[in-house]
Amino acid sequence: MQAVSRVLVWFRRDLRLHDHAALYHALKSAQQVIPVFVFDRSILDPLPKDDRRVEFIWESVAALKAELQASGHDIKVRHGAVADEIVDLAREMGVQAVFCNHDYEPAAIARDAEVAARLAALGVAFHSYKDQVIFEKDELLTGAGQFYSVFTPYKNAWLKKLTPFYLQAYPVQRYRAALAPLAAEPMPSLASLGFTAGHLAPLGVRGGSAAGEALLADFMTRIADYQAARDYPAIKGVSYLSVHLRFGTVSIRELAAFAWQQGSAGSLCWLSELIWRDFYQQILWHRPDVVGHSFKPQYEGLPFPNDPQLFAAWCEGRTGYPLVDAAMRQLNHSGYMHNRLRMVAASFLVKDLLVDWRWGERYFAEKLIDFDLSANNGGWQWAASTGCDAQPYFRIFNPISQSQKFDPQGKFIRRYVPELAALPTEALHAPWLAKPLELASAKLVLGRDYPMPVVDHAVQRDRALALFKRAAEPTGSGG
Ligand code: FAD
Repeated sequence: MQAVSRVLVWFRRDLRLHDHAALYHALKSAQQVIPVFVFDRSILDPLPKDDRRVEFIWESVAALKAELQASGHDIKVRHGAVADEIVDLAREMGVQAVFCNHDYEPAAIARDAEVAARLAALGVAFHSYKDQVIFEKDELLTGAGQFYSVFTPYKNAWLKKLTPFYLQAYPVQRYRAALAPLAAEPMPSLASLGFTAGHLAPLGVRGGSAAGEALLADFMTRIADYQAARDYPAIKGVSYLSVHLRFGTVSIRELAAFAWQQGSAGSLCWLSELIWRDFYQQILWHRPDVVGHSFKPQYEGLPFPNDPQLFAAWCEGRTGYPLVDAAMRQLNHSGYMHNRLRMVAASFLVKDLLVDWRWGERYFAEKLIDFDLSANNGGWQWAASTGCDAQPYFRIFNPISQSQKFDPQGKFIRRYVPELAALPTEALHAPWLAKPLELASAKLVLGRDYPMPVVDHAVQRDRALALFKRAAEPTGSGG
């Protein structure tokens, strides 16, 4: 009698059952496919107990479970040391192979190498596939065979290489018969994992691919306006899909195909943002040392003063610069920050407060529900001018003119900095310049109800320029 070929599909940042590369390949090649997810203690244990991301993942895995159980299948859910759990399950279930999708983060690469080696010792194969990006690793290289370190040529090469082939969905449904029949096991509660629930729903965020599809459907009706609306945080102009892209509850192929086929200025602009995502993933793949280090080596040792009080004021949204404070309060409240504000807040921390970009990167990593190592690191290094950016270090955002331009009516500021709400709009962007009468009629005392600016932008701008100039053009370099 021929042995039944049985395999595991290990779900990680791909929490959906449709258009899933590893699941598709497993279903096509084996007779019994067993889905599995591991809540990894080494990642979870250091997190605060109200971490929203864990709740998002939990909801997404619970949705997978419900969908699979409805057809007599299941996903095995474990909580422990991830490599041990996968190896134990492989042994217990007597599988011949483990399938999963590529992950490009250095820690994930090391984890996968360990799992693959331990499985190999048991005679179990390890197969992994491209799934979370359109182009990966060495698929796009310059004429000289190097990876792209500047976005625009990367984007041009990306668009040139794109054909419908790369956007095709994996027809998982067609092969579902190979899912193993499994007795239903209950989903471990969030409490049993050591976390509390109820932090997502009040924000209108839900895990699971149905929630991702609903957001996408809503965005499809707005995508034509994306280019015009995307820079205004008070407007619903962006997709809010980042957390779903992060955890793979939506498929990048479905999103990119939609944007490409729609073809409007708005949708092509949005496609460009998806290309940024691929761009930073390939940077991380080729330059894993960007974790903790400047992409541009000359800026590695910038002597930032790193004032902890200024850093605390930034984290808590009390710098006295309303747009920056509104941005940080949005992040603290919701785990999300609008892209324009991520750029403004990051530039302000590095170039106005003269705090090392790595401090800000770490704070965003703790707070962002869509935290993604490659995009966060890329975004921070871009804002800090230490990264792969064609612009030189002297691009410094002015927090007042950014505010006037991108929150002209002060709607966003009023939402997150309500103590300023009664100020006339012209005074809202720089309240310390308000007339005494305006402050009095808004019943606002600066320094009591809202801080005076913690630094002077013009002064700090010059200090930042000098700091970068010394690193960029060291004296005695002979040049
Ligand atoms: P949309 O405007 O609808 O864009 C669609 C998708 O494109 C996003 O969901 C995202 O996956 C991708 N995208 C858009 N802009 C970028 C970009 N600059 N780099 C890479 N991908 C992009 N994005 C994250 O997903 N995780 C992060 O941890 C993260 N940290 C950032 C830190 C800084 C300092 C900066 C400047 C940007 C960061 N971004 C990050 C990029 C961007 O701000 C967010 O992707 C975006 O705000 C998410 O909202 P959205 O889904 O509505 O975006």
